[in-house]
Amino acid sequence: MSGQPRICTSCGQRSTNSAADAVCTACGAPLRAMTRMEALFDRWFGPSAASVSECYHRHRQLTELLWSRDGRGQEYYNILRPGISYSKFLQRVTDIICQGVRDGWVELRIPPVPVPDDAAYGIEFKDPDRFAAELTAAFAAPDAQRGKRPRGG
Ligand SMILES: [Zn+2]
Repeated sequence: MSGQPRICTSCGQRSTNSAADAVCTACGAPLRAMTRMEALFDRWFGPSAASVSECYHRHRQLTELLWSRDGRGQEYYNILRPGISYSKFLQRVTDIICQGVRDGWVELRIPPVPVPDDAAYGIEFKDPDRFAAELTAAFAAPDAQRGKRPRGG
């Protein structure tokens, strides 16, 4: 049967190569068809690309909501007038926020379990000037950027 997941007879690496003479890309040993049990096990406990990206997407959505809620997203958009669609703007600023979290100048407050109270969720700008500088650098018109002071690392 073609398209059936196969498994290396030696090291256990998974393969989707359905050619009869295909060998393991990791160790070169022959492949065999996976048993239904092995396939089921992989489905439940193996890494799933779909579920990883789903969590990533939801996490990003929550991050986006935290900085843009209460009309702030629209407010920044109106001030900066970035010349891109609002949804692109949301994505770009969310990227900046994520970088800020990595660098430590933004902190997201997310409770360990979901609670039905928006006040439990928050975002804190440890360095608001840095956020303003990042937004300006990302969206300001070339004219406005010319007079900008260089910022130190
Ligand atoms: Zn192998």
